[in-house]
Parts: sequence; structure tokens; C-alpha cells
Amino acid sequence: MIVVLKHGVSEEKKQQLIAWLQALGLRIHISDGEFQTVLGLVGDTSSVDMDLVESLDIVDSVKRVSEPFKMCNRKFHPESMVVEVGDVKIGAGNFVMIAGPCSVESEEQIVTVAKAVKAAGAKLMRGGAFKPRTSPYDFAGLKAEGLELLKIARRETGLPIVTELMNINDLPLFEDVDVIQIGARNMQNFDLLRELGHVDKPILLKRGLANTLKELLMSAEYIMASGNEQVMLCERGIRTFSDYTRNTLDLSAVPMLHELSHLPVIVDPSHATGIAKLVPPMALAATAGGADGLIIEVHNDPIHALCDGAQSLRPEEFAALAEKVRAIREVIA
Ligand code: PEP
Ligand code: MN
Repeated sequence: MIVVLKHGVSEEKKQQLIAWLQALGLRIHISDGEFQTVLGLVGDTSSVDMDLVESLDIVDSVKRVSEPFKMCNRKFHPESMVVEVGDVKIGAGNFVMIAGPCSVESEEQIVTVAKAVKAAGAKLMRGGAFKPRTSPYDFAGLKAEGLELLKIARRETGLPIVTELMNINDLPLFEDVDVIQIGARNMQNFDLLRELGHVDKPILLKRGLANTLKELLMSAEYIMASGNEQVMLCERGIRTFSDYTRNTLDLSAVPMLHELSHLPVIVDPSHATGIAKLVPPMALAATAGGADGLIIEVHNDPIHALCDGAQSLRPEEFAALAEKVRAIREVIA
């Protein structure tokens, strides 16, 4: 249920109402916007007399929220959320490019790529240290050493780190990471999601290979309901019967998620297509479609990459794409 307060209500009256609702056993999520304050009621609202609340002189309107996701629902939070990573803002008109290799392979590799993507306009760098691989025989990342190499690249470039956490036991190693990525395969690892609720850093939550938008939002809800509201959603392609591409980029997810939720939506055209030459057109389409950012795999030597070389752009290809992304942003602004 949401309670929309009238404009200019005193803080005292607002707090009285909140205390009364809390006494009914509800958690109250407060969204103080420029033009209105929205109270989101979380919990069993069956004991709340909607007519009574609506009749209060400080209340503008009361609505039931039928969706099972509450904290990530735009009805709870009408204004788009801005996630801040250092001085980088993401969401509500702030667009960001995140780029880097699929996996961190060596100091030289990650520093070279980080410098190149920074020069091209990326504001955050990506790089996997813990890699979920379909085959147990494939390179699974440099793990703790990979995280150290990412920190070296951050020192050299100033770019904040986005990297994937697979197992909650590794969380202590991620203390100095800027954004924790939860990969497609872990989107419904509910114990992991709950733990992330206690983490004070932004989470990039990728959509599962065969998950609906509602399931993605319910996974965001797990993190937010446990206490961490800094969640970004990521569309990275889903499994369909389409051949020739690794996955199918569900671009309509971008405006649909924006309608349903106030969270930023990032698009990953690299995993969505699996083919480097398809990455630029899909990145441009996602930008035109209103994505709040792109996460793109870039490698200085894709042919010898230990993971996902076929979908990795070379630094100069990323730089050319970034120019075009900026042009599209100007057109849609
Ligand atoms: C990745 O970003 O390298 C990755 C493994 O992505 P996804 O979880 O979307 O497959
Ligand atoms: Mn990858």
C-alpha cells in the first residue's frame, strides 16, 4: 500500500502518521520527492483501514500496490533513483559506460584495457576475478589475485571497479570493490541476495538466462528488503530459440523496467549477442531505448582472451562506439 501525503505537510504530522502505521507492525519506506512524499507500507497491510487513512487531512491518496515487489516498485518511489559510485552518478538521466575484459588475466592486461576504456569515456571498469564457467575445465578467474590486479588498475586510472561475486564466503575479499556484480546464474541465489542487503555498496544485478522481469524485480526486492537499496538492474539477453546469437537481447525490458521500477537499468550487449560485431549496433539501440548505461567487454587481444574473446571489442572499437553512444545521447536528451 502507498500513502501519498499532501504537499507541504509538517514533519511533525508526518512522523505521527508514520509512528501510528509502525505500531500496526508495518515497515515504512519514505520517499521524499521534490513535489510529493510517498509512504510505502511493507508488511501485512490487511489491518490498515484505507478509508480512515485517506480521510486524514495530511493524506492526498491511498493506493494498494498489487505487485509482489514493493521496495523496487516505482509506486513506492516515483522519482528515478540515482546510484552513486564515488562521484559517478547512474540513473535519472545520468548515463554511464562500464567497460573492461570479461576476466582479469594479468596486471598488464587489466591496466592496459582500463587506461584505454577510460580514455574513450568509460566511467567504471569491469573485470571478472571469480568467473562462473559452464565447463569446469575452463579458466575460472584469478580470484583473490584478480581483485588485487583490479585495485592496481583503479590506482592507475581512478576508475571504480565492477566485479562479480559468486559465493557469499568470498564477500570479505570484496570490501574494497566499488560495485558488486551478481551474475545471471546467481540471480535467484536467494541466500546470497539476502546477504547483499547488509552490504553498503551498489549491486549490479543481472537478469537470469531464463528469468522474467518480475523475477528479476523480486530478486532486487530481496536485496532491498534486507536493507540495501542501491541496486541496478541489468538486461544481458535471455535464452530463446533464436539461433546465431548467444542470447536474445530483450530491449523492451528497458522501458518496461523503467515503468515498473525506479532503479537504473544497464544493458550488456556483449553477453546478449556473444559476437563482437553485433555489440555496437545493440549498444546504440539500447542507448536510444533509454538505458541508463552499458556494460561492455573490451580486450586488448581478444583472440587470445581466456574468456569471451569472441564478444570482446578491441579498445579502438570501443572508442568508436563510445563516440556514437554520445551522439545518440544528444539526440534523445
Ligand atoms: C560477465 O559479466 O562476465 C558474466 C559472466 O555475465 P552473465 O552473468 O550475464 O553471464
Ligand atoms: Mn563475459
